[in-house]
Amino acid sequence: MPPVRLPDTLWNMLRAHCPIRTVEEEQQELFKDATPCTVPVTTFARTVDRALRAYFAVLKFTDHIQVVYVQGSTGKVDVCFDKKHGMLNIHCRWLDFACTHYRSFCRPWSPSNLTDTNAPFFCCHVVEELLVRSIASIFKAHSTSRPAEIKFMRQIGRRLRYLPHSIKLKPYPGGILVSWEDNETEVFRTLSPSGPDYHVVLHDGNCANAEMALLHDKAALPNEVVPCGCRQQFARQTHRMCLFTGLSHTSTYYAMIALNEDRAFYGVPSDRLSPGSYESVEYLSQ
Ligand SMILES: [Zn+2]
Ligand SMILES: [Zn+2]
Ligand SMILES: [Zn+2]
Repeated sequence: MPPVRLPDTLWNMLRAHCPIRTVEEEQQELFKDATPCTVPVTTFARTVDRALRAYFAVLKFTDHIQVVYVQGSTGKVDVCFDKKHGMLNIHCRWLDFACTHYRSFCRPWSPSNLTDTNAPFFCCHVVEELLVRSIASIFKAHSTSRPAEIKFMRQIGRRLRYLPHSIKLKPYPGGILVSWEDNETEVFRTLSPSGPDYHVVLHDGNCANAEMALLHDKAALPNEVVPCGCRQQFARQTHRMCLFTGLSHTSTYYAMIALNEDRAFYGVPSDRLSPGSYESVEYLSQ
């Protein structure tokens, strides 16, 4: 027989007579000694963190939630929602590729460059697993209905599949070539050769606020100006690259990319690069 939830009246009677704690209280107790930690700079950590926060920002009932990563012993508990402060505490093991794949690999082998700043990200499953735990911790027993839960998970699955990753800038004379990847399958791509458009904005290195954005505000049009005034392009999903020309040799730039849809998720911003580095690359390769 599956476990049955005790009626509140019975539960309160029990609590009045002996020191028993709810699961939530037990979890809070375990997280009491954990200390906050910063998000590691790896692509894996930054992508998991951004995708999770972007997803909370999409939903009305989670958009106020603050995500805090903690380290230290919390037993086997990974996630704990502090309702009073609207804070979701997550153990930082979820930001580590090795920890999240300990004894359960998702691929027959792993790329060796996973700690790079523009490494590939192919572990959408980690975001989904963390989200399931987070949603469960936030909603406790009054969990959302099954159909609503399936809808949430499909929404996140779709957004993750189109999440740009491996965003790279390559210097060209007076220009920069931007390229990226996503996690749609090759089979699906070839079924629809045109595919959806990505919105690529090449920000000036000094345009710092833009890189904090988690959600692509709304579908952009080619004749519109980007709010910060930086340059934009649109590129097909099947192509996944675009060339910006006529750039200043003395400036640095970074790219922000999202599917050109309302509230699509931005990928982790690219590293900063100057078109002027073309000469030094040429020089080095001689
Ligand atoms: Zn670890
Ligand atoms: Zn994985
Ligand atoms: Zn900008």
